[in-house]
Amino acid sequence: MWSLTNAASIFLNGTSSLTYSAASDTLAATDPFTIEFWYRSIDSTSSIVDLLDTRQSGAHNEGYFVSRDQNSGIRFFLDCDSGIMDFHGAAVSSTKNGTPSYDTSSIWHYVAITKNSAAASSAFSMYFDGYSQPITWSGQQGPISGNCSISSSTDSIRFGNDAISTSTSNSLTGNLDEVRIWSTDRSTYVTSTWNQELPATGTSLVGHWPFNNTATDVATNHASSGQSGIVSFVKSSPFGHFLYQNNGNAPGLYSSVTSTGSGMQMRWRYDLNVGDSDYTSAITTSTAAWNTLGAVTIASTTATSSMTLEILDADNSNSSTVWYGNVGLWVSKSVIPTSTVDHLYLNSYYLDGNDCFIFLCPYSDLAKKTVVMHELGHALGLDHSYWGSVMNYYSDKNNPVTTLQNQDTSDYYFVWGGNQN
Ligand SMILES: [Zn+2]
Repeated sequence: MWSLTNAASIFLNGTSSLTYSAASDTLAATDPFTIEFWYRSIDSTSSIVDLLDTRQSGAHNEGYFVSRDQNSGIRFFLDCDSGIMDFHGAAVSSTKNGTPSYDTSSIWHYVAITKNSAAASSAFSMYFDGYSQPITWSGQQGPISGNCSISSSTDSIRFGNDAISTSTSNSLTGNLDEVRIWSTDRSTYVTSTWNQELPATGTSLVGHWPFNNTATDVATNHASSGQSGIVSFVKSSPFGHFLYQNNGNAPGLYSSVTSTGSGMQMRWRYDLNVGDSDYTSAITTSTAAWNTLGAVTIASTTATSSMTLEILDADNSNSSTVWYGNVGLWVSKSVIPTSTVDHLYLNSYYLDGNDCFIFLCPYSDLAKKTVVMHELGHALGLDHSYWGSVMNYYSDKNNPVTTLQNQDTSDYYFVWGGNQN
């Protein structure tokens, strides 16, 4: 049952890297290209992680790298025979949506850098999680000319840390997946193909590393030409499923769901706690959204004996509580020894903005529905996925995702069965 087709990526442990020969590859300043990949950083200490680097040490370091900087976001740097292009973007979305912290939530993100055949700065575009990003230039804005790669017998592409500096390696602790390098400008395609796996080979696809249980560049069938440290395959993948491990076992029953004679059921009881707001409407509309998928019946109960999920509204006043700082939170009973059922907390401090000032203003009814729908997703066994989904780790109350998206339903069907698409 726990067989995830195409669900693997590589994990780099903070001291490791993986290198491939790029000896026959050339890149001129007038060549178009597309570089795209998924990454997942779980590093909370390094301010910069190098994700991909084609530069070689030598008299002149032609080549490019893509890194994630704590402050400036995704950085692209290209060094040619003459001229350098150095820009960054997605500063907010790649660093935990603007809070003064790294994206430590182990969320997969998609990055694409595209270039057309011009040699000017306007030739470049950046995409993050499928969306075009404004570019900020860091001072060096070309123009470029000549070769932008070494094309020597030792030319290479390295994943996971800096290819030139040994003193500041900027190593990634986290995952890489679906690395694709094209010799064409695919800016008109990336917004529709960013969250898909693509065939192993294709026109203009010069490098392709889907890391589905093989480390080979599937565009060329070339094996890795070098490795430092430990590089391992893991199940985590942007195209697998985003699920809580069920005590390390195959997907099956999660404790908010119980198997009954009438099928799988989640029985919730809403115990108004603070009493200054009533979220019954949000709970009703969000349970209805999940119930349309059909495999698990989510319904209310008044009996403690049949309850599997207790919903409480709570305020933000007690910093020692598990839901402190969260708009909503699902907590497995396994986390709290005294709990016999799972809990779902709805934080009235944020939802109603009782102490409202600018960014804590009240949530709309639709935004409240999104919060409850998200927490019920956790109760169904779903983990955080990515931007645009109900199960993204961050909910934008001003632009809520009010209906279940493809990844949400796909993950649900994987656990509970049903009409998979
Ligand atoms: Zn969540």
